Amino acid sequence: MPYFINVILPIPLEKQFTYSISNAEADLLKPGMRVAVPFGKSKIYTGLVVTVHQTPPTVYEAKEIDQILDDTPLVTAIQLQFWEWLAQYYMCTVGEVFRAAVPGALLLESETLILRNQKAIIDENELKDEEYLVFEALQHQPILRVREISDILDKKNVIPILNRLLLKDIIFLKEEVYEQYKPKLVRYVQLGKDHRSEENLEALLTSLSRAPKQSQVVLSLFQLQAATKKPVKVSDLEKSSNTSSAIIKTLIDKGILEEQFVRTDRVVFEGGEDYEALKSLNEYQQSALGEINNAFSMGKVTLLHGVTSSGKTEVYVKLIEDFIAKGKQALYLLPEIALTTQLISRLQAYFGNKVAVYHSKYTVQERVEVWNNVLGSKPKAQIVIGARSALFLPFQNLGLIIVDEEHESSFKQYDPAPRYHARDAAIVLGNLHGSKVLLGSATPSVESYYNVKTSKYGYAQILRRYGDVLMPDIELVDIREQSRKKRMKGHFSERLMEEISETLENGEQVILFQNRRGYAPIMECTSCGHTPQCPNCDVSLTYHQLRKQLRCHYCSHHIALQTSCQACGSATLDTKGFGTEQVEQELQTLFPKAKVGRMDLDTTRGKYGYEKIITAFEQQEIDILVGTQMLTKGLDFRNVNLVGIMNADTLLNFPDYRAHERSFQLLTQVAGRAGRTQKRGKVIIQSYNPEHRILQQVTTNDYIEMFNEQLYEREQFKYPPNNKIIKITFKHKDYNKLNEATDWFAKSLKIGFGKMVLGPEYPPVARIRNQYLKNILLKIGKDHSLVKTKNNIKKIEKSFNAISYYRGVRIIYNVDHI
Ligand code: ADP
Ligand code: ZN
Ligand code: ZN
Repeated sequence: MPYFINVILPIPLEKQFTYSISNAEADLLKPGMRVAVPFGKSKIYTGLVVTVHQTPPTVYEAKEIDQILDDTPLVTAIQLQFWEWLAQYYMCTVGEVFRAAVPGALLLESETLILRNQKAIIDENELKDEEYLVFEALQHQPILRVREISDILDKKNVIPILNRLLLKDIIFLKEEVYEQYKPKLVRYVQLGKDHRSEENLEALLTSLSRAPKQSQVVLSLFQLQAATKKPVKVSDLEKSSNTSSAIIKTLIDKGILEEQFVRTDRVVFEGGEDYEALKSLNEYQQSALGEINNAFSMGKVTLLHGVTSSGKTEVYVKLIEDFIAKGKQALYLLPEIALTTQLISRLQAYFGNKVAVYHSKYTVQERVEVWNNVLGSKPKAQIVIGARSALFLPFQNLGLIIVDEEHESSFKQYDPAPRYHARDAAIVLGNLHGSKVLLGSATPSVESYYNVKTSKYGYAQILRRYGDVLMPDIELVDIREQSRKKRMKGHFSERLMEEISETLENGEQVILFQNRRGYAPIMECTSCGHTPQCPNCDVSLTYHQLRKQLRCHYCSHHIALQTSCQACGSATLDTKGFGTEQVEQELQTLFPKAKVGRMDLDTTRGKYGYEKIITAFEQQEIDILVGTQMLTKGLDFRNVNLVGIMNADTLLNFPDYRAHERSFQLLTQVAGRAGRTQKRGKVIIQSYNPEHRILQQVTTNDYIEMFNEQLYEREQFKYPPNNKIIKITFKHKDYNKLNEATDWFAKSLKIGFGKMVLGPEYPPVARIRNQYLKNILLKIGKDHSLVKTKNNIKKIEKSFNAISYYRGVRIIYNVDHI
């Protein structure tokens, strides 16, 4: 009897595919291993084996596989179950999950674009013939498709060759994003190749006899390296040889020393046991830990609700220590923006090289390396700290999952599928592994706190900041009143100005928050009312003063700044609203002596931009830091005593049922950056509407009241937690077709679901990159089965797809849309 395998392909098709294999291959292949398989006329994909069986497919003849790509499984049985759940729950295909879950380097296919790594140092003798041919081809042509490489080598399947080149760092994939993650670099040096032996060293020292400082450095380095046999940190060398970096630089320039840069989050810590000792917990942390363990023992997911700076991280660390001592793995999930080097270094100081960092912005090689370190029966990586995609790693024995800042909406994947919520998916993954799950936040989501109230989750609380530091003093300033009395200077109230002056006089630092980048979101002609719009999207262009441009924040279309109105020619152009650039500029006139910095998408784009600003602020080279919500998470600045919120109203008025909850969270988190040491911090919130309930609740730190009111409203309007929502977005470039299509779909839905169906409706920005958008929202009450509802929707989609006129209209499901 012939053998077959069922394979998942990384494409959005519902079905698994069956391929035939030989008896010998059947002996080798196990679920979770990769195979290169032909698909369609000429494509080759990397597929994943799900089952090995003997049932031939009925409707097509099984093709043979091209090649087996792994010796042992790359993906575990639990991962496959997890993928199935994600696909089912979030209404996508397992293939889409596969593509999102596995690092791109492990998924080569015929259309993948390959580039040469220009920085690679290549010893041509170490390349096999075919590898060399690829390398050579890439010298003539900077980008090649995998199938073009097939042609060059005259070989159908080149994936194994490319896999080897990837691992050797000689090529990389086009889709990789290199610039977005900005790690901190540490400089290392070692003695150059020719000077490492003792004899050669003698000669070198003799030649340096007239440069005593240089020979001192060489000697120190020799001693340090004798102990470690590894390159030495420049800062350590400076200390031990008592010299300046200038001397070290001279030696590097002479070629006596070789320098090399290592990213801090990838520095491998040495030594077995001499890590930093864990801090001992104070009584509040201790009792929270007790409550957590208690709830864990009852098998409950647990919420740690601790005010900002209460020392939640130290509690996590303690738990992690316990679990890895039992030989289990721990996963520490954070939103992307909270994954800072500040935190990573803290964990590495405690746990050294047991810690692996996983980040979607890592290079292919790095991600593959982490993947392999997590996999295996004795995994090297026992603790993984990462953003949401770290959920997809091949854990063997996951004992603990921590989801820090669990309220953060960026835990929800927006695009592409699977549009999963990492917190919710973490709980499911925890179930599959039988692991404990801890959610942490100073401002829990309404959903999670509701689960505590209904006893579904366990609960632990820390009400005090560590070291009995007081919660900041929050003051609301009515800028409506201030503007009427003409007391505002630009966007600054008198109160905010006073507080800034005082803080600066005390030699302390200020953070100012404005959740909009650029200079002003709208430019308007005061003669005719015309505002420049993006030609591709239905939004006005944002004015960026520094770059002298008008830019679209949705598609990055931009034009040079105009001096007169394009419609009527008048020069009476004015701006409406304001962004971080404008705040920065006003500060320069109001506080000419202060050093002002800005942290938003525009200033952090360049290489290491983000780290540079944080370091400058830490080292007090910046007095006032203006920024967007990048400022809110995970940053522990010791000298900040004042936080100013320039305008709370834009947050509150956002058209979304979560806007109020989110404003509470964001404002509380930003406020939490103030006064993290002994002195009580000050927060000024400017608003046109200071009586707003949410602002009152932020000021009194009344989470419970906020929760109760928000829950009430959510019930009234049938939103979560008691109802589930599915948002269906339709996209097409033809406005009329989109309207007809969404009307058809909504009508069909209403037959079965009646009032549960809302829309179709245009979103606030109804056209992006020339695609029109329209949404239908489904609110599903407790009396309906979610699974059945989804199946019905899928059935309607099938009929929809059968209508040829609607072909090309894209449908995007967003389950638990937030
Ligand atoms: P949170 O995550 O709750 O905002 P952190 O964990 O960042 O708070 O802690 C705030 C500050 O207090 C940090 O600088 C941390 O090092 C310090 N801290 C917390 N717990 C302890 C402890 N048990 N001993 C010493 N310092 C602590
Ligand atoms: Zn005009
Ligand atoms: Zn645009």
